[in-house]
Amino acid sequence: MSALMRLYQAANALEANLLKGMLQAEGFDIQLRGENLAGAAGELPLSVQQVDLFIVEKDYQDALRLLSRYEGNGKTEWFCHQCGEKNGSNFELCWQCGQPKSE
Ligand SMILES: [Zn+2]
Repeated sequence: MSALMRLYQAANALEANLLKGMLQAEGFDIQLRGENLAGAAGELPLSVQQVDLFIVEKDYQDALRLLSRYEGNGKTEWFCHQCGEKNGSNFELCWQCGQPKSE
């Protein structure tokens, strides 16, 4: 049994699930904590609820590298001009509504 490490703190459940899906597609096993799973956290709307991504220790460094790509290596994020969603610099389409990145 491997220890779980906190990989990332997502701003909300939407972002957490997006990242979880991306990491799972790369073969990582991600667990979310703070989501509406354990009754105690159930009072807050999902949109304002922070969710932590946990990963087994042995995969931590690899997953962190992947995440840093998601975060654009410190390059600029952009905001969708249609829905206002914040997107990582490596996204060409808004992940929320599919609108292409504007110039
Ligand atoms: Zn959008």
